[in-house]
Amino acid sequence: MSIQRAAARIDARFVERMYSSLKDEAPAFFSVLETEAPTSVFINPLKDPGDCFENASSIPWCAQGKYLDRRPDFTFDPLFHAGCYYVMEASSMFLHHVLASLIPQDKPIVALDLCAAPGGKSMVVLSCLPPGSLLVSNEVNKSRFQTLQYNIDKWGSPNVIRTCLDPSRMPWTGLFDLILVDAPCSGEGLFRKDKDARAEWSPENVMHCSARQKRILAEAERLLAPGGMMVYSTCTYSDEENIHQVRWMAEQFRLTSKPVAVPDTWHVTKMSAGDLTGYQFYPHRVKGEGFFCAVLRKTEESLVHASTVIKGIRGPKPAFIESPLPKALIDWIQPSSQFGQNHFLESNHGDLYLLQTANAIDSLQLTHITYPGTEIGTVKYGSFSHSHIVGRSTAKADPLTLSRSHLLTFSPSHPLALSHCLNPEIPSIELDRDQAITYLRKESISVESSTPGWNVARYKGFALGWLKQTQAGLKNYLPTKYRIIKQQLK
Ligand code: SAM
Repeated sequence: MSIQRAAARIDARFVERMYSSLKDEAPAFFSVLETEAPTSVFINPLKDPGDCFENASSIPWCAQGKYLDRRPDFTFDPLFHAGCYYVMEASSMFLHHVLASLIPQDKPIVALDLCAAPGGKSMVVLSCLPPGSLLVSNEVNKSRFQTLQYNIDKWGSPNVIRTCLDPSRMPWTGLFDLILVDAPCSGEGLFRKDKDARAEWSPENVMHCSARQKRILAEAERLLAPGGMMVYSTCTYSDEENIHQVRWMAEQFRLTSKPVAVPDTWHVTKMSAGDLTGYQFYPHRVKGEGFFCAVLRKTEESLVHASTVIKGIRGPKPAFIESPLPKALIDWIQPSSQFGQNHFLESNHGDLYLLQTANAIDSLQLTHITYPGTEIGTVKYGSFSHSHIVGRSTAKADPLTLSRSHLLTFSPSHPLALSHCLNPEIPSIELDRDQAITYLRKESISVESSTPGWNVARYKGFALGWLKQTQAGLKNYLPTKYRIIKQQLK
């Protein structure tokens, strides 16, 4: 396809700008936009499936990333549903190199992914955190938050708190050692994969995105601890959304730029403004899409944000109470892990969550949090459900004390099956590929033998969800919203 035709479907003002910045490389840039985007995956270090992709090749800046030589139908790969890997654009995995270069591994940290859905970068952050660390993964958009929730649950890390907040509503001023701002942007770097991004582009939208990014960055700076590190990234090329934002942050808050060693053989483009540095990926120079990334540090000289009290936030609303795990549940959970000690949290609806971290979680006050860790299940007490007990006006005693002594049954939640915190001794049923797909369609399956009660459905040893053996048969507990609906092409 001619460059003129390719460019014709892209706003002429964008074409002009790229010709002026890339000069004689611009034709190569526009012609690569008409080729097929490479497919790549980020492997889950907690669930490494080994060589499950034929002809995969490595991504120079990320040992956990792989290029695939074709795009399989991921829906029909049970390992995809088990969270063994995540389909992720290769350039954005540069974040792995940045974090691996800059985060000391000697003590746990508290990290925030401020713009997290659908969750790919949270997975990269998780793979670089020192043992015992904690990640708060936040997404402001409610429907995108559901996708984030699903992806983080599949990933299985037990050290992630999920929040659904506008950054200005976050009460944790100065708490975080690391903040990732993967900002909403004009999406120029996605013009090859996403033709809608081309249609939506305009100079006005670039400026609109730039203004929104400044608001988000200012909040991120407020939330960053002194000495903390902020990684700013976008999937666009415009200076107004990239290096100018880095300069604005340095000027506004006296943050300093933190360079990262990048070998020339990677063909990453260094962007500079004085002594500030950013890293730009162009699809005609690297095997990946457009991406920008820069690192800033809050030093002692950085200006301390004026407002440590956020106006407009209602008083603390503790939705969760930290408490000891009822004895009956101990067998369900890994006794210890590299993630730190177990914190059990109970919502006032009787839902139980587990968070594994070496950090003291009381600094988070457990307010404004939607999911304080992995949802592990619900408990039923006596002949009443927990919510009945709490709701009864006669229940004057502390509902948790009362409920614990009356604990009768525990129903595990789907995320527990996929979590690293599940006790591996829990009975399992190994499924072959056809059975796994049947399970993932939420249809009934039959197996030769199973243990009465709850069993983990596994494929190649990796958990897919729960099955329960009752006298009536084997019941499939995959949440309906996660079932495969699509038909496989023969
Ligand atoms: N980090 C994600 C990943 O790797 O999967 C992609 C994030 S996407 C580029 C930007 C996200 O910012 C979107 O999910 C969007 O809903 C969210 N967002 C939009 N406006 C925002 C705002 N004012 N504050 C915080 N996040 C916002």
